[in-house]
Amino acid sequence: MPETSVPPRGQPVKPWAILLAAGQGRRLAAATGGLAKQFLHWQGMPLYWHAAKAMSRSAAVAGIVFVFPPADYDAHAENLRALYAAGDLGLPCLTAVGGALRQDSVRHGLAALPADVRHVLIHDAARPFVSPALIRKICASLESGVPGAIPALPVTDTIKTVSHDLVTGTLPRHTLRAVQTPQGFRLDLLLQAHCHAEKQKLNVTDDASLLEEMGCEIHVVEGEAANVKITNPEDMDLLRPPHALPRPCTGMGYDVHRYAPGGRPMRLGGVLIPAGPEVAAHSDGDVLLHALTDAILGCAGLGDIGQHFSDKDPRFDNISSALLLDEALDMVRKKGVQLCHADLTLIAQTPRLAPHREEIRKNIARLLALPANCVNLKASTEEGLGFTGRAEGIKAYAVVTAWAGARAAFAPPSFLQRDI
Ligand code: MG
Repeated sequence: MPETSVPPRGQPVKPWAILLAAGQGRRLAAATGGLAKQFLHWQGMPLYWHAAKAMSRSAAVAGIVFVFPPADYDAHAENLRALYAAGDLGLPCLTAVGGALRQDSVRHGLAALPADVRHVLIHDAARPFVSPALIRKICASLESGVPGAIPALPVTDTIKTVSHDLVTGTLPRHTLRAVQTPQGFRLDLLLQAHCHAEKQKLNVTDDASLLEEMGCEIHVVEGEAANVKITNPEDMDLLRPPHALPRPCTGMGYDVHRYAPGGRPMRLGGVLIPAGPEVAAHSDGDVLLHALTDAILGCAGLGDIGQHFSDKDPRFDNISSALLLDEALDMVRKKGVQLCHADLTLIAQTPRLAPHREEIRKNIARLLALPANCVNLKASTEEGLGFTGRAEGIKAYAVVTAWAGARAAFAPPSFLQRDI
């Protein structure tokens, strides 16, 4: 083992990760039209970004260096900036230009690291399912002072050596392990190993081999079966279920409107209530549709009605709340959210809501394009208590259930773009 300065044992290891996205992915080229696998899109983002997100979920990782192919480096770096702008990883990131061989790409990535880095994780961009638990195991091993730690799994197939279609030997399976990434190393030793490999013109398929060549001990931790590398066309199926299954989500909305003589005629769920008190509002003041719109936006993580339809905006003066609801539905559909149920509650001392309840329920089902039995409407008083009890105003609650992750529907242009 080479002489070098040894980092103190037992200290928390906070490595930077080198994410290798510079390979050509020849085995998948036919299936992808020549696109390297790490740039295939899954759930709207390139595969390497999913691998980076997986790394960022570990609190142990301090930062990431992305290594991109030299041919399209500028385009990939630009795309990375766009991905960061849309939702950063909460970690610093740097980029480096890849080389001809995998080990050249690693060396370029190491050269881009900040000066104070002591440990590094080398990870394949085509392994998007790495878990924080596996990263923790690698870091724990490095904290014990070993030069390198790698994840590996026992081999289940019998492995034979072959020459010209003839078997030349059978390897003892119990001594074999299939090695994964991330591989963790002391940075000083890995730099020495790469320097040695360059001088000796070594060509290897993983970084641990280079340290082995120098006589360093490499510790093995148990890998994870789920931490697969997308390599062959059939691996593409792994990017579909269960990861592509839609997930249920719930949104909640609440709204209040004050009664104000001379205000807007009362509308509830798009239905005019002729005997109802007039309400103060910038729009048409439909408290039930406002609560419902908030709940729908909540299902897609799109904030609230005020963020999208300001009550200061003259375009929304006396606007039908059904149009605002329609716009919100467009927005959530584009996010791949599909509504399946709405449960609504109106609370008012006056007017009596029971005579209007069925008409309101049916109208809301129509607006949401849901079967009538998927919309429920409850009405209540607060027994004379509070502002509703004093007949000073009305309030509404809405709870909406939906599926997120459904295929994004092609929604018609929003009413705002239709120049009405
Ligand atoms: Mg309102």
